[in-house]
Amino acid sequence: MDSGRQGDRRAHRLLIPVLLMLLIGMTALLISEIRQNESMRAELRSILAESDSIREQKVCIDTEIEKLRKSIETVKNLPQEAETARQKFFEDASRLEKMVRDGNTDIKIAYLTFDDGPYEITDRYLDVLEMYGVLATFFQRGRDWNEYGAIYRRLALSGHTIGNHTYSHQIRGGIYRSVQTFMDDVLKNRKYIEENLGITTQVLRFPGGSGTAGSLKQGIIEELRKEGYAYVNWNSATMDGMYDLSADEYRDNVLNRTNGREFLVVLMHDYSKETLKALPEIIEGLEEQGYVFLPLFYESLAVNR
Ligand SMILES: [Zn+2]
Repeated sequence: MDSGRQGDRRAHRLLIPVLLMLLIGMTALLISEIRQNESMRAELRSILAESDSIREQKVCIDTEIEKLRKSIETVKNLPQEAETARQKFFEDASRLEKMVRDGNTDIKIAYLTFDDGPYEITDRYLDVLEMYGVLATFFQRGRDWNEYGAIYRRLALSGHTIGNHTYSHQIRGGIYRSVQTFMDDVLKNRKYIEENLGITTQVLRFPGGSGTAGSLKQGIIEELRKEGYAYVNWNSATMDGMYDLSADEYRDNVLNRTNGREFLVVLMHDYSKETLKALPEIIEGLEEQGYVFLPLFYESLAVNR
């Protein structure tokens, strides 16, 4: 045998395991590479999934922020919208009043008015009025905001008219000493209501009625006019401010004395439990007599300007 060939064979024999080892090594490397790649891919997938969910969350947050922005705009415009709706309501009410005055309709108008509050029981009055869908007028004096703030606010938000009844309501030795003392008290109450509720009162009732002002009446009326106030007395009353009567008697005092008046201004006080009991029957009874209910407003035919 040729020694050269034998050497070749030996070399071949050696080469095969080396190649095999190399192959195994490369395969192992490849497998580990593939595994690594797979784990990287899985990681990438999870990163992508996470970023998707972040994107979704962001879209969600953006939508929420957009919704919130719209809500803020609506809330900001509410006072303006409420004022516009109120003006529109008074225009409609004015037209109705003129139709009633001109005899173009069978219906009559009743203005329910409540003086001297707010009281704790005023809340119950508001419940009854709400139940019947009736808007009324509350002639308010200045009362402790900490105690009555919530009632003042409910009154204002319910659409009732808040009227000025002077801040102190001090009849004897108080507001009627001079035109000035009266007006000071009126303006103090106006400011109090404006600052707390953002509402400018335009309708006023003299404590005790305008007759109580005696010789000061004309002077006061001139000043009220300058301050943009209309004032109103009444031509119907439960008499709850004068006599301690039963709910039935208070009801009859109103229902039996309407005398078919086209415009009825009913004086009541929202401190009376008996008047509260009578209120549903007063409302129903007046409706039966053909009355519809309106709150008072500056341009109303029922007030004096
Ligand atoms: Zn009063």
